[in-house]
Amino acid sequence: MEKLQLTLAIIKPHAVKNPVALSYIRNVIKNRFVVVKTKRVSLDKESAGKFYKEHMQKFFFNRLVTFMTSGSIDIHIIGHSNAIELWRRMLGPTKVYKAQFQDPYCLRGMFGISDTRNVAHGSDSLTSAEREIKFFFPEFSFYNWHTVEEVRYRKGPIIFNDYLFQHVRKL
Ligand code: ADP
Ligand code: MG
Repeated sequence: MEKLQLTLAIIKPHAVKNPVALSYIRNVIKNRFVVVKTKRVSLDKESAGKFYKEHMQKFFFNRLVTFMTSGSIDIHIIGHSNAIELWRRMLGPTKVYKAQFQDPYCLRGMFGISDTRNVAHGSDSLTSAEREIKFFFPEFSFYNWHTVEEVRYRKGPIIFNDYLFQHVRKL
């Protein structure tokens, strides 16, 4: 098995509030990825703005920040040999109408309700995955991941802990 790559997945507020969407998305995540960390947080405007700082100049920036602070979000560090690309492919196109048209079974096609409320976030490159993981999990050590944990998750045995919504090493 190839080395596990990590990416950051965020389930956005409208999807966290929708039990059907949330359980579908959670199943897909736990079946296709190794779930390394999970936490539920509520962002304030300052943190949401910082997280999305690359979009500061866009017309939708205020809308995006207001939406992302409108309720809890679920944040997951997930691993797969091709995690970044696979998770973005499962999300589908950013714009929901395009998603519904091009790929009706992608997560955004199924559960998206507007270009802003498009279900979930996925890092778009190795650099942004690292920045975004550090942003939400400042205590996460990439050094420790690469030298110790990655091989443990890859070679197992691991089991899924439903309460934590995380894979953990089987003792
Ligand atoms: P992605 O999340 O697919 O990487 P972007 O990084 O371009 O997309 O945009 C970040 C987020 O900003 C999107 O997921 C979406 O919530 C919001 N957004 C992007 N484009 C638009 C738009 N044209 N109108 C409204 N909201 C948008
Ligand atoms: Mg993006």
